[in-house]
Amino acid sequence: MPKKSITIALAGNPNSGKSTIFNNLTGTRQKVGNWPGVTVEKKEGHLTANGYRLTVVDLPGTYSLTAYSIEEIVARNFILDEKPELVVNILDASNMERNLYLATQLRELDTKVIFVLNMEDVARQRGAKIDGDKLSELLDVPVVFTVGNRNEGTEELLKTIISVVESDVELPHTRRVSYGKDIEEAVGELSEFIKDKTAETLRHNIRWVAIKLLENDKIVKERIRETAGLEGEGILREAELKRQKIREFFDEEPEIVMTERRYGFVAGIVKEVLKTVSDKRVDRSRQIDQILTNRLLGLPIFVFFIWAMFQMTFSLGAYPMSWIDTGVGLLGQAAGGILPGGLFRDLIVDGMIAGVGSVAIFLPNILILFFCIALFEDTGYMARAAFLMDKVMHLIGLHGKSFIPMLMGFGCNAPAIMATRTLESEKDRILTILINPLMSCSARLPVYILLAGTFFGARAGNAIFSIYVLGIVLAILVGRLFRSTVLRGSVAPFVMELPPYRAPMLKGLMIHMWDRSKIFLRKMGGVILIGSLVIWLLSSFPREVRFSMDYESEIAAINARYAVSMAEVKSELREEIVRERDRAVSAIEAEKAKEKMEKSYIGHIGKALAPVFAPLGMDWRASVAVLSGFVAKEIVVSTLGVLHAVGADETEKSEALKLALKKSGMTPLSAYAMMAFILIYIPCLATVSVIRRETNSWKWTIFSISYSTILAWGIAFLIYQGGKGIGLG
Ligand code: GDP
Ligand code: MG
Repeated sequence: MPKKSITIALAGNPNSGKSTIFNNLTGTRQKVGNWPGVTVEKKEGHLTANGYRLTVVDLPGTYSLTAYSIEEIVARNFILDEKPELVVNILDASNMERNLYLATQLRELDTKVIFVLNMEDVARQRGAKIDGDKLSELLDVPVVFTVGNRNEGTEELLKTIISVVESDVELPHTRRVSYGKDIEEAVGELSEFIKDKTAETLRHNIRWVAIKLLENDKIVKERIRETAGLEGEGILREAELKRQKIREFFDEEPEIVMTERRYGFVAGIVKEVLKTVSDKRVDRSRQIDQILTNRLLGLPIFVFFIWAMFQMTFSLGAYPMSWIDTGVGLLGQAAGGILPGGLFRDLIVDGMIAGVGSVAIFLPNILILFFCIALFEDTGYMARAAFLMDKVMHLIGLHGKSFIPMLMGFGCNAPAIMATRTLESEKDRILTILINPLMSCSARLPVYILLAGTFFGARAGNAIFSIYVLGIVLAILVGRLFRSTVLRGSVAPFVMELPPYRAPMLKGLMIHMWDRSKIFLRKMGGVILIGSLVIWLLSSFPREVRFSMDYESEIAAINARYAVSMAEVKSELREEIVRERDRAVSAIEAEKAKEKMEKSYIGHIGKALAPVFAPLGMDWRASVAVLSGFVAKEIVVSTLGVLHAVGADETEKSEALKLALKKSGMTPLSAYAMMAFILIYIPCLATVSVIRRETNSWKWTIFSISYSTILAWGIAFLIYQGGKGIGLG
């Protein structure tokens, strides 16, 4: 059976996806050459379908069908002269207005057309919804949707092509641009005139020729001269008269008026078929972003949010904190009451309950902190923060993408360092990993809360906030330094995505908050428990020490002395004397405990370390606490508790620790230096092991440990000595 040959032309704006659709239709069976006489590429391909042999021609991309550019002339001449059975007009659906301009012009030619709305995916993404049925109805042309680069809709297009080819329905002449009464009259009269003069010789649609003549189209004019001979001159003269009339009437060149009319027609269609479902969320997001990512306001607002987060963490957390504190105290008392006195009771009460309890009281703070971070993430603000920080990150020689791991570092550095895997450049990754521990993780928060709460009173929130800022500033400085020395390189460009804002779901927030807080709880039962026990053991042994004085006989002497005075005074005053006696006895007992601690193993370790930390204003207890913090930074708190001999059976245990710290000779200045040290020095064990894994290098791991510890010492030294120098100590 001989196959019927059919030619199909693909027309459309440049970049509407014509070549893509062409490839989808024809596959590899294509031929590339030039259009005769010009250096415009011509592609031709073949396929068979339904017994037809289809030749598909990829026309040059054009925006219009005037005679101004070589591409337009090539495309138009092909349609006029080769008379393909069908013109398939590929439209970029995400750009309807511009693409329909060409479409309406094609519609004016006497050729069968199909509209292919390609890039449907892009349109949808932009929140545009196109009513294909409506468009089809308005212009009386079949409409097919495609996504060219995913080869979607090709089948449907092929089916439509076949059905249009097989139908012998004439293209209706209504449903096309109306140029308004005056021009339409001119078009009508000129058409009649042409018909009379040329009769059958002109092969084109007469209305179209009339329109083009009114537009002074040079190619159509030439053709009239060629085909109509002498009569042609008469037609052109008539056209010029009509043009003159239109020009007088509109005070404008006719082609301009007609172009405007076409645009008006297109605008009308667009209004009918295009619904910008302008995603309300996208719109609202844009409005919110005008403020939150504003060039001037964005950064101050971001800083405010972070500041508010820490204020909240501190002030809101204070209430449940004191409840837990009381609870732990009661538990310690109960355990102390039940268990028989001795080493085992001390281990449970002073080691376990006191150690874990001193960290457990920070659970509310950590929950609040993680709640805030979850809030930033779930609302979409986190991406804005990264966007805002892009410029700041460039100071380091990194881009905004590196900021997400940095922000996560506020929660916990270990997963944050794992999150650097999304960075493409190896150098960017290492740099981000190296400075990540400077983002103060939530484990360090209890230490700040204890120290700032003890020494800064109402300004504790500000003090803590400034430590976080210090971490960020150091990260920038250190990052710059490394970028220009050990990790030299430049930043690769990239696009930051800003997803629309969402109202957060409470359930989602809770889940995210809990996921991260779980780690904290698990740590309490694990490393913190073990760490506390080790510290307690080291501080409780050796059991027997040789005291520098006989505390027991001192106490006995006090008791005896008060017994004498008690006998002498009236009974009303006895109560007062008993209180006085107890105070004197506990002072001696505290002296004894202090000396015992100093002579324990941990005391020896601390005394050995003390000279290193003395220039930072830290005593031997603080030195030991810092050392123990390598296991997990929260342990610093429990170590301080143990070393200051704050037993778990004391109610308001954290108050007791605060009092002990104040008495130990620590000042606001040395407390602040210690906070800075805790911020900067060696990352915790878990983080170090993640660094080792993620850099896959001992060299970088050791580098990270040593640079941070040296830097910590240097900064704490500057703070303490500098502060003392200006009279703060
Ligand atoms: P032409 O200039 O009209 O020939 O356009 P091309 O076929 O070369 O396509 C231009 C670009 O748009 C190419 O990168 C295509 O991969 C892409 N493209 C084509 N169709 C679609 C589509 O439906 N959706 C999207 N997102 N991209 C498309
Ligand atoms: Mg192309």
